Amino acid sequence: QGVPVVIIGAGPAGLTLGNLLRAASVDCVVLETESRAFIERRPRAGVLEEWAVRALERHGLADQLLKRAERHTACEFRFDGRRYRFPYHELTGRHHFVYPQPLLVTDLVREYADVRGGDIRFGVQDVRLHDLDTDRPSVSYTGPETGGERRVLRCAFVAGCDGARGVTRAALPPGRTRIARHDYGIGWLALLAEAPPSSDCVLFGCHPRGFAGHMPRSPEVTRYYLQCPPGDDPENWPEDRVWAELQSRLGAAGAPPLTRGPLVEKRVLDMHDYVVEPMAYGRLYLAGDAAHLVAPIAAKGMNLALHDAFLLADALIARLTEGDDRGLDGYGEASLRRVWDYQEFSQWLSEVYHGAAAGDAFRAGTTVARLRRLFTSPVAAAAFAEQYLGTAERY
Ligand code: FAD
Repeated sequence: QGVPVVIIGAGPAGLTLGNLLRAASVDCVVLETESRAFIERRPRAGVLEEWAVRALERHGLADQLLKRAERHTACEFRFDGRRYRFPYHELTGRHHFVYPQPLLVTDLVREYADVRGGDIRFGVQDVRLHDLDTDRPSVSYTGPETGGERRVLRCAFVAGCDGARGVTRAALPPGRTRIARHDYGIGWLALLAEAPPSSDCVLFGCHPRGFAGHMPRSPEVTRYYLQCPPGDDPENWPEDRVWAELQSRLGAAGAPPLTRGPLVEKRVLDMHDYVVEPMAYGRLYLAGDAAHLVAPIAAKGMNLALHDAFLLADALIARLTEGDDRGLDGYGEASLRRVWDYQEFSQWLSEVYHGAAAGDAFRAGTTVARLRRLFTSPVAAAAFAEQYLGTAERY
């Protein structure tokens, strides 16, 4: 007696996968270390690509999102004290949706647990994976509902959706797994301000003192980023210093001053990427940040997590309802095509953001050339818009 699929992790990847499996009448259990209240509040991403929203919509998972998300049609680069608006909607007819990750997670939990009656267990501890190289794997855990006893869930497949700090990636045998990693050697101070956005769009400040970003999240909340040394202590950044630095890096002729507000999140991200290949071992399939992390340079991570969930759900449903293995066999390759494409774009964009502050006149020169090209060459602009908005092809 068991359940076809155990999903480890209730982030965007695990919850989307759970919802799609439920809709296809494939039973699953989702295990999550945190509480429901915690995951419904954890601030992180906010930018969703149009293809991802359309895919959520096709599966009945975008009702709230379509009502509440803001549509963004342009972004703006600021460098040399000037503003350069990039109207990507005019060029492509496509736009970004801005919908904070905690709202998406809240919608997905509600749909999975409250509407579709899905089994989700919060607050689990010490999750372990067993017998992955057999056709009877299992997952065990302890937690408040087990009274301290270890509970075992037998299953046919395990989905590792437990993010960058989970346990499932470690279950891949080291000899058969390659983890390709890239460190940018820089930090970003990630800030969430209870302040209305200071512009109707995303702003990228490419400044000799370092990058600064302004990302509207809602009419009341704005995400800001400041480039800083990796491993920097957030305590080095009192509010006055943060706002002075944001103002100087994002300032430009004709731009109104930034609207200040209390900083409700302040943490340093050491910017790095990784890609795990292959993304599967035996009956374990990784999805989302568990398999690949992309630094938040181009706002791609949540989109890649959703992409994996759609692919893996189709593949598991085909296997479990029709005995068709082709989706599972091709899962990693199909996921990684988009992953590597987005990694490459993030590297390219990183140089645009950080080149001016590299302390290297050559890199500063090529960075400005890259930026100018976006505003002088229609072909370069079209290529940028396509990558910024994400590959439009159906997942
Ligand atoms: P997660 O969201 O990390 O979910 C994993 C879940 O697994 C968590 O709930 C965790 O608690 C749980 N878990 C962990 N370990 C275990 C365990 N052992 N057992 C059970 N459960 C476990 N992406 C974008 O697309 N756009 C953006 O604008 C953007 N901005 C970002 C800004 C910041 C500051 C950060 C940090 C990230 C940003 N990202 C962005 C990336 C995005 O947040 C992630 O890529 C996304 O959350 C990945 O989803 P996931 O489901 O794979 O993993």
